[in-house]
Amino acid sequence: MTAEIIDGKAIAQRLRTDVAKRVQTLKAERGVTPGLAVVLVGEDAASQVYVRNKGLQTIEAGMASFEHKLAASTPQADVLALIGMLNRDPRVHGILVQLPLPAEIDAAAVLRAINPDKDVDGFHPINVGRLANGERCLQPCTPTGCVLLAKTVMPKLGGLEAVVLGRSTIVGKPVAQLLLREDCTVTIAHSRTRDLANVVRRADLLIAAVGRPQMVRGTWIKPGAIVIDVGINRVPIADGKSRLVGDVAFDEALAVARAITPVPGGVGPMTIACLLQNTLQAAEAS
Ligand code: NDP
Repeated sequence: MTAEIIDGKAIAQRLRTDVAKRVQTLKAERGVTPGLAVVLVGEDAASQVYVRNKGLQTIEAGMASFEHKLAASTPQADVLALIGMLNRDPRVHGILVQLPLPAEIDAAAVLRAINPDKDVDGFHPINVGRLANGERCLQPCTPTGCVLLAKTVMPKLGGLEAVVLGRSTIVGKPVAQLLLREDCTVTIAHSRTRDLANVVRRADLLIAAVGRPQMVRGTWIKPGAIVIDVGINRVPIADGKSRLVGDVAFDEALAVARAITPVPGGVGPMTIACLLQNTLQAAEAS
């Protein structure tokens, strides 16, 4: 068997096109232009690239983009004051604080200061609670992207044995909540899980989010499983160069799985597309 390679780039492009159409409808019907504010504190190079991409894709979708770049030395009180201003600004429907924040700033306090109805990352405790309660909410972007990708292979996931490898608040826990909503039987595995390979082998649907290059071997995968690889790991290759790999040994899994996301080009592109979708959802609800 050779697995289907799930084309996250193309699926994300389709989602962005759909969002852009709905943005036009919202503008025409209610005169509302969805606005996304991104707050970047400090000069982290990777964060600057993410923020630039988010800004470009926001504008491409017909939305307004507001970028706030603050020096790494900005006091926490000033960051909180900016969040307060964005909470009150009617042009801003979504607020995203780019993580990581400098160590001197209490990231949890900053995330809690965001109006939950503008919390397009879905990290505010109110949205975490709504997600756990099965209520409508702004859902975290990468987990939403994972579920959308799995559904391109199998539109109804109900009844599947799903194993989520990783229990972070950003990926593992929320993706497990979303899969419960889809009526999967969900197991969350982590660094203390015993006999990990056998736990993973139960999965009809595997979500790997550990941040360990190619940790999941082909022999761990149930034949015919759907594999969503969230991991982004940079590994050295010859001549001092490097490349990105996922948490799953892709070539090995290809021979066993029914479908698998590549790294790069799988889950990664879905994250911004889902962020735009959340911003639209927040604007529609405003
Ligand atoms: P975290 O480091 O926050 O969490 C990793 C999880 O994996 C933890 O729950 C940890 O267990 C578990 N883990 C670590 N090592 C092992 C092991 N040897 N065996 C079993 N479990 C293990 O990572 P994130 O969730 O933030 O990210 C995971 C990966 O996804 C990273 O590669 C990251 O770059 C990528 N990512 C990609 C995104 C995208 O595509 N847009 C977005 C976000 C993340 P424990 O809790 O016990 O420590």
